[in-house]
Amino acid sequence: MAKADCQKHTIIIIGAGPTGLTLAKVLLDNHMSIIMIDANHEGIGGGVRDSIFWDKDKLKLGILKKHAELLNHPRFRYFGGIEVGEDRDVTIEDLQQVAPVILTCGSRGHKQLPIDGADAEGVWDANVLVRILNTRWLLGRTKGPAAEEALERPYVGKKIAMVGMGNVVADTIKHIATLDNREGCGREISVLVRRTPFASKIAPAEMKWILGYIDKSKLETEIKRILPYLIETDLDIPEQKELKADWEKDNASYQHNLEIILKALKIKIDMFNEMPDSLNESQTRVDFKFATQIKKVDQADDKIKGIEITQKLVGDKSSESRLDCDTIIMSVGSSVDEQLGLDHDNGYFVSDGKNDFLLKGENNIFMAGWARQPSVGLAGVATKEGKKAGETLAPLFEAIEDETKSLGSLTETEKMVSDLIVGVAYPDWFNLATARHRLQQEIQGNQVMSFVTVD
Ligand SMILES: Cc1cc2nc3c(=O)[nH]c(=O)nc-3n(C[C@H](O)[C@H](O)[C@H](O)COP(=O)(O)OP(=O)(O)OC[C@H]3O[C@@H](n4cnc5c(N)ncnc54)[C@H](O)[C@@H]3O)c2cc1C
Repeated sequence: MAKADCQKHTIIIIGAGPTGLTLAKVLLDNHMSIIMIDANHEGIGGGVRDSIFWDKDKLKLGILKKHAELLNHPRFRYFGGIEVGEDRDVTIEDLQQVAPVILTCGSRGHKQLPIDGADAEGVWDANVLVRILNTRWLLGRTKGPAAEEALERPYVGKKIAMVGMGNVVADTIKHIATLDNREGCGREISVLVRRTPFASKIAPAEMKWILGYIDKSKLETEIKRILPYLIETDLDIPEQKELKADWEKDNASYQHNLEIILKALKIKIDMFNEMPDSLNESQTRVDFKFATQIKKVDQADDKIKGIEITQKLVGDKSSESRLDCDTIIMSVGSSVDEQLGLDHDNGYFVSDGKNDFLLKGENNIFMAGWARQPSVGLAGVATKEGKKAGETLAPLFEAIEDETKSLGSLTETEKMVSDLIVGVAYPDWFNLATARHRLQQEIQGNQVMSFVTVD
């Protein structure tokens, strides 16, 4: 057999996101065989498919197309719609008896803030909400408005408290604006930011997109409220000097203060000047509360009634208040999935001291991408990580002794995995051929689609 075709070790990769797909390619290039398992019923892509905003077709398809060839590789097998974990379709413990396992399953556990009521009904993890809404909009586009309507809409009330200040906050605002647009109503969103405007991680393009929903007068009132705090508190940021110098001149320099803060928020002053003074009640309206910590979710009759907050003031003073809301959306990052049944610490899997990709205390469970570093980096970072992990792990797998089961032929290993999931109603409608066919449909149609079936 020619070297390029010869089967070496078979590796199980859990997760078909950009990390797993890139890693698979590197290992295939190193003559290994891959069995990929993914929980998603729609197809490969992971966060590229289900988390990145639904209509960013160019970005999403651009990444998916790069991996299309993988689905035709003779040493690649795929099990879609299979969830790995305890009390799920198959456990890691069982899989690791068959072959080395690499976790590239992202960080799909919920990071919960330690406050009363954080687990109440009506408190959303932004990442989960975004995934559900992405499917909804894609389904509407693929199969029409009736199909979209038939898919149950996640409950999002009319007055929302959103916690965080990164790109996922901006994405969630975009989704809610889409929801409002479809329903012809206007929701009110208060973005609660623990730190100052200088800690904002919203990218300029995302800010530009949501600018039309920001209530200008409320933003300016909040900037005036926070200004003394920004000047008097030691923030260890260069902009503070500028703010202070202006402040000491006199009020005439407020305009410059405003510009500095807007710049931190990625809002150019001319864009700000062009914003309408007030927004229409029937559209999405966004305001910000900085240096604001959430303390407790108020509930009555199993419904969210509000959220108790503390706002920092000058010195070590603070003020306590309550914000009326019926929905809370937390965008505070993510953690690894506890239900995988592996040791974790503070939302992370712990790595072996010598090899970042190996799980501590294990010899055949590895991790990469968001599974290794929850919520870190965009898809490009995940791709780089997949490549690095592949290059690091390939020599290690190569060195595995012959007598281990991982050296079984691909067909044999595939059969062992199939046997493990027999009886869990493996959806045979979702195999490699289906994944390939769906991706081809998307590439030909030049758009990402949803294939969810609704009654
Ligand atoms: C809301 C949001 C918006 C984003 N927007 C952008 C953007 O605009 N541009 C950009 O470049 N990046 C964006 N990102 C970041 C990007 O999605 C991530 O960088 C990337 O997806 C991480 O790749 P990954 O392969 O490590 O994990 P993921 O992409 O999360 O892939 C994990 C895969 O594992 C599967 N899986 C999870 N658990 C299991 C299990 N138990 N069993 C089997 N399979 C499982 C999942 O179905 C998924 O397919 C966004 C992320 C989020 C959350």
